[in-house]
Amino acid sequence: MTAAREEMACQICLSPLNTLGTPPTYVHPIQLVTDGHEPIPVPVSQLDTVRRTCDFCGDPYPTWTLLGGEVAAVAIGEAGGLVQNFGGAWAACATCQTYIDDGRNDMVVDRAVHALSLGNHPQARERVEQLHLAFLNARVPGRTLITTTAWPATAITARDLPKVRDGLARFYRRNDGLPVALVATDARQQIAAGLDRSRLFWIDSDFTNLAEYAAEKLPDVTISRDLMPSTDGLLVWSRPVTPRQITAASWTANRDGWQLVNYRTIGGGLDGKPLQRLREHVGWLAPTNTAQVHDQHALPGDHPAAPLLATWLLVVQQAAEVTTAQVDKAVRKTYARTNRPAPEVRIVRIRANRSTTTTGTQSAPGDSGPSQTNRFWVSGHWRNQPYGPGRALRRPVYINPFLRGPDDAPIKLSTTVRMLSSRKPKSEDHE
Ligand SMILES: [Zn+2]
Ligand SMILES: [Zn+2]
Repeated sequence: MTAAREEMACQICLSPLNTLGTPPTYVHPIQLVTDGHEPIPVPVSQLDTVRRTCDFCGDPYPTWTLLGGEVAAVAIGEAGGLVQNFGGAWAACATCQTYIDDGRNDMVVDRAVHALSLGNHPQARERVEQLHLAFLNARVPGRTLITTTAWPATAITARDLPKVRDGLARFYRRNDGLPVALVATDARQQIAAGLDRSRLFWIDSDFTNLAEYAAEKLPDVTISRDLMPSTDGLLVWSRPVTPRQITAASWTANRDGWQLVNYRTIGGGLDGKPLQRLREHVGWLAPTNTAQVHDQHALPGDHPAAPLLATWLLVVQQAAEVTTAQVDKAVRKTYARTNRPAPEVRIVRIRANRSTTTTGTQSAPGDSGPSQTNRFWVSGHWRNQPYGPGRALRRPVYINPFLRGPDDAPIKLSTTVRMLSSRKPKSEDHE
């Protein structure tokens, strides 16, 4: 890859593509095993997930893009030489990055030799080292976070939310790069400031199920301030939602409206020093898509922000019960030391009341007869309903976002029955 040309990945297998010749043709990396399909090149900025591996050691969760020396390697096969252009941009996993930062390039070579099973070939080790050094010796300072890596999910609890928010704000203020198409440099300070004053929302697992289901069918939504439960906010679902695997979303008020950002969790499966560094430098969340929206902006129902919009709408239509959770004493103390008010986390769950829509829809007679021993989800749908002054405006309202069956019956297909009970939120924030 050169700076002028955008990197391409294959739309079918999501693997980054190499270029050959001039003008360039895009080819799968030679070591990649495919089903034989022809590569379909698309710019990586159009993909949520790219199946990239660490260019140093082959780790499947690369974290940073580093710029360094242009490296080309020649592979000699039966059909002759094939030049593979590694380019001047390499992906590094969190572990290799930690070794590189600590000046332990030898450990990076060890990882590569181990991953390639080259233990018995001292010459191969030398070649790997040459390749790494050709790149690293010409390294340009700085690094850019890779936001397209499909990390295993990290569970974020309600009590984690203040530190997750602070970690994210810290990352926006740091110098580590983000893909330019994602967040403009001048917007980063704005988002960081927005996060500082954000309300924090943690969506419990039943409400997350409901929001994901409702998001799949979301009609067009017109953006307005009264859709949002707060001016600035950070909202975390109890698990990744939609095929995009979004775990969190933030919204920040600015001069032109709001900046919406989706996030994935980062660092799942890591431990030790690399995890510690990642938490320190990036935190728990990596931005994956952003959108600048303005008042009365009409967003299509299949917009990447659909889970956020659906959750907002469900909260506004009072399908939610929002309670404030106490945060840890340690967190309160940390905030007090820097003269910040103690953070509040709002826990969002489904309102226990069974008629949660404005239409007054009720169970049909017989639906909740005495023979029923479980409550179950009623598959709902969106309907545009009038609201506002003179009921002149239209907004999607989710019909039937509730459970049928006896109030005290267990919820089928759900493991978090007690979330709907009247337990105090205090004991639920470390779910
Ligand atoms: Zn492919
Ligand atoms: Zn690596």
